[in-house]
Amino acid sequence: MPVTAVVGANWGDEGKGKLCDYLAQSSDLVIRFQGGRNAGHTVINQYGKFALHLVPCGVFYDHTTNLLGPGVAVDVAALLQELAELRAGGAPNPRVLIAERAQVVLPHHVELDRLEEARRGAAAFGSTQTGMAPFYADKYLKVGIQVGDLFDGDHLRQRLRQTVSRINVLLEHLYGAAPLRLEPLVEELLALGAQVRDMAVDSTALLQQALRSGKRILLEGQLGALRDPDHGIYPYTTSSSPLAGFATVGAGLPARAIERVVATVKAYSSCVGAGPFATELSGSCGDELRERGGDAGEYGATTGRPRRVGWFDAVATRYGCAVQGASELAVTLLDVLGYLDAIPICTAYEVDGVRRAEFPSTAVLERARPVYETLSGWRCDISDVRRFADLPPQAQAYVRAIESAAGIPVRWISVGPRREQIIRVS
Ligand code: GDP
Repeated sequence: MPVTAVVGANWGDEGKGKLCDYLAQSSDLVIRFQGGRNAGHTVINQYGKFALHLVPCGVFYDHTTNLLGPGVAVDVAALLQELAELRAGGAPNPRVLIAERAQVVLPHHVELDRLEEARRGAAAFGSTQTGMAPFYADKYLKVGIQVGDLFDGDHLRQRLRQTVSRINVLLEHLYGAAPLRLEPLVEELLALGAQVRDMAVDSTALLQQALRSGKRILLEGQLGALRDPDHGIYPYTTSSSPLAGFATVGAGLPARAIERVVATVKAYSSCVGAGPFATELSGSCGDELRERGGDAGEYGATTGRPRRVGWFDAVATRYGCAVQGASELAVTLLDVLGYLDAIPICTAYEVDGVRRAEFPSTAVLERARPVYETLSGWRCDISDVRRFADLPPQAQAYVRAIESAAGIPVRWISVGPRREQIIRVS
């Protein structure tokens, strides 16, 4: 598998971390290509249980090189802390390289994220408040700071001077907050830079060489297709593209490099934060699915917030797989549904009395009502099953229903949070 992308086809939290941890064993490089520490991948392996935020899932293996590509939002302090926590948690030797062209999350990005969510009050987006929107806004305003800028005080000071005066107008006059001071900020960033200097690399040269020598590269997506700023449920999206199409850009590979796009599809739906969510379950039905979901209930790995949950949405998933350009599917968390007699799946939406099979833009999606078909449940624990043929027929039929909804072959079925709880479908 020279270049494989593992991406989400839903709203995120589909179990990409578990799959990447598994696939990293046969990868030489594992690369994050967008987002930042707002990600939360839960990985359970022989060293224990870990919530990864910025660090790629290959860090548990000695043979992998782990890279934060130029598209990533690098919060240097958070990265150093995460690496220290991984070591303290029993990971033997977590090592990460950072692209010199990756940009740095600055302290005021986090502050502005928090202040803006507070200002919006009831209309808040449900941001993880890790600074992503202000970070990417600054990047595209061309006032961001690259990792390579952290190693030259004069250059850094010059880059920050304009930024500080602009940000202070916002801080003082829009939010009534304390202004930034240039020199302490420069000192703080230089000190952080000194701690990551050894990790900073020319990632373009590294990847060109890796491609030439046929290295196996795993591109690790964050969130899911429905959070893409262009193709997702805008404005309830993330601030960078989690699509495989962007993975080459955010990692620094040629556009034609990706050979496999593994779309991770959750056997039911979950969604963190605000925004339309057609199959959302409320009441005791939703509470039960939330408590039984994930490895210990559906609660955000980064924020601890309860996730909204619902039935599998074939309309959203088909769309998610299409915009990801999926070549194969990984169906995850199938084991969670083993308590149900019957399992509804949403096969169409009804909007203003009209049935539609296409995923609409946000304004229409807000009015969409799910149309369900009901499949039989299997009412047993499948977490020890390792072959498709050994799954109960109802579980096989459920997976086949997902496959035919997406129109893409299922290659992997995850039946538990641990690395080995996986079925390869041939
Ligand atoms: P990611 O961001 O896509 O990596 O997903 P998260 O890690 O945020 O959320 C997925 C949750 O489901 C985590 O708690 C995982 O440990 C858990 N998980 C992953 N795969 C499975 C599975 O097949 N079965 C169960 N029960 N839990 C799983």
